[in-house]
Amino acid sequence: MRILVVEDEAKLAQFIELELKYEGYEVMVANDGLSGLSTARESQPDLIILDWMLPGISGVEICQRLRSTGDKVPVILLTAKDEVGDRVKGLDAGADDYMIKPFSIEELLARVRAALRRTQEQETNVLQFSDLKLNRSSREVFRGTRRIELTAKEFDLLEYLLAHPRQVLTRDQILERVWGYDFMGDSNIIEVYVRYLRLKLEAENETRLIQTVRGVGYVVRE
Ligand code: CA
Repeated sequence: MRILVVEDEAKLAQFIELELKYEGYEVMVANDGLSGLSTARESQPDLIILDWMLPGISGVEICQRLRSTGDKVPVILLTAKDEVGDRVKGLDAGADDYMIKPFSIEELLARVRAALRRTQEQETNVLQFSDLKLNRSSREVFRGTRRIELTAKEFDLLEYLLAHPRQVLTRDQILERVWGYDFMGDSNIIEVYVRYLRLKLEAENETRLIQTVRGVGYVVRE
């Protein structure tokens, strides 16, 4: 796990860096706003500890700029006591959490662990292949930024296929898992639903991701 610390107080930055390294994280440090923003963009850290008051651009502005380009990296904002009244502004800017200086390092480490755990939980809820994303908890599907509306069965079929990327799934496996053991209907149902899915997933001439393996079944691959 890689953490970026953006903090202009050199001593504090070094202290946080050492503690995080001791916990086994890989750490990058930036001492002003602009280099903080460029490091965040270039090295894609798993989490950012971001001081609010920075030379150049502020922590809040960095946060806003990252969010405006769709970057969802967790951000813990550090604020001085007299800035507490502004903390709503920090959360509005897209920060996930904030800490008031001076803070205990143990608490910061606990919040780092919690924030990283939240992202990991969200990630296991999202199945992704190429530019196709399926969110199991919100039941949303996206191709790039295009949202795709699926029926319940289409969603279940796509979820099963996406959970096994590059693995050929036989028609029997698909029938069993998506329609159930006792399915007595027409076994062409799979072909019908794959056709529906392809129509929706390729509505803007995107590349085909659900491939037919003749005589066997289907596979998700480019
Ligand atoms: Ca500062």
